[in-house]
Amino acid sequence: MKFGGTSVADLDRIRAVAERVRKEREKGHQVAVVVSAMAGVTNQMVGFVQALDPMADAREYDAVVASGEQVTSGLTAIALQALGIPARSWQGWQIPFHTDDAHGKARIGDVEGAALIACMEQGEVPVIAGFQGVAPEDRISTLGRGGSDTSAVAIAAAIRADRCDIYTDVDGIYTTDPRIVKKARKLDRITFEEMLELASVGAKVLQTRSVGLAMKEKVRVRVLSSFEPETELSGSLVVDEDETMEKELVTGIAYSLDEAKISVSRIPDRPGIAAAIFSPLTKARVNVDMIVQSVGSDGSTNMTFTVPKNDQARALAALEAARGDIQYGEIHTANDVVKISVVGIGMRSHSGMASTMFETLAERGINVQVISTSEIKISVLIDAAYMELAMRALHTAYGLDGE
Ligand code: ADP
Ligand code: ASP
Ligand code: MG
Repeated sequence: MKFGGTSVADLDRIRAVAERVRKEREKGHQVAVVVSAMAGVTNQMVGFVQALDPMADAREYDAVVASGEQVTSGLTAIALQALGIPARSWQGWQIPFHTDDAHGKARIGDVEGAALIACMEQGEVPVIAGFQGVAPEDRISTLGRGGSDTSAVAIAAAIRADRCDIYTDVDGIYTTDPRIVKKARKLDRITFEEMLELASVGAKVLQTRSVGLAMKEKVRVRVLSSFEPETELSGSLVVDEDETMEKELVTGIAYSLDEAKISVSRIPDRPGIAAAIFSPLTKARVNVDMIVQSVGSDGSTNMTFTVPKNDQARALAALEAARGDIQYGEIHTANDVVKISVVGIGMRSHSGMASTMFETLAERGINVQVISTSEIKISVLIDAAYMELAMRALHTAYGLDGE
């Protein structure tokens, strides 16, 4: 049972978590618990670090931002004990939960299940600090924002759990963010592949890596609310393709405000120009997402692309350093953009899915700045001011609206 930030936001919520664990044990299950930091705490820690030094030592960043989960794991263990349930907290290094040394976004190595299984065999509930692990040289590491979902799936795999229940502040996975689109519809089931794509384009209900890991390790994942009583109809299951019943053309719509647009203009149009621009970005560890190239009236070319907002400064520095090679005229950047993506396995076999998107946006006078597609996804970059309008219009246009 994994509980996210809003589910452990204060002591009453933590007591409610303990109560849910008690109910689950009464059904005869052995339970391991993974907790996030209290809502807002990780943001505050990140703010502290950035205020001192935006380029801070990533190992110390991890030492600071991992602390919120240490607090909630201890508090949750205390709340369980108060109900008469034996429990103890586990930090990443105690399990141990091994990762590599890519601090701030560490990759998971071996996760030792033995001590946790022994803990449960003794009738005790292990309460694991999510988000964190231990890197080589015994430094604390973290798995990237939203990483407690991935912790939970890794722990579920390590202890060979029957299921990994992700408790959050919405009752499952919806066709789009239910906080933005009121007509969003809850999906009883979604395939790993579709969830992976939705998460990767911005649906933060599950961290992308947790979905990939669950798919690889064959962990059954359920998403449900910690705020509502559990019923037969609660939550959503992430399943293999053959387990889904309804085959919809479009599964869902997601948005991401995490990207910045960079336009490099008036570049001499010659072979090798894309390499001259993107190789320095790769070397600077900047992930480029959407790309469009256009030819100007004077025969020169322009390249527009998006990068994570966090990498924008590094991207600009890398381009500036490569100016001699690229020979561009100027660079423009924009932060007030949103990427909206429509995802569905049905796109593999159906044409016309993209034109629905373009027509819907055009009818509302929304300009599309950049487009990218994959086998089961279409993404457009638009002005951030139109985010909600575009999401609602597309949700209706693709026939996704519920009650
Ligand atoms: P937690 O703190 O429990 O990990 P998150 O805030 O990380 O919770 O994720 C839950 C949030 O994800 C919801 O409150 C909702 O606004 C957002 N969300 C985005 N897309 C979706 C979607 N397709 N289905 C459900 N929730 C979504
Ligand atoms: N507390 C971490 C974060 O805010 C991890 C998580 O909540 O999943 O990113
Ligand atoms: Mg989350």
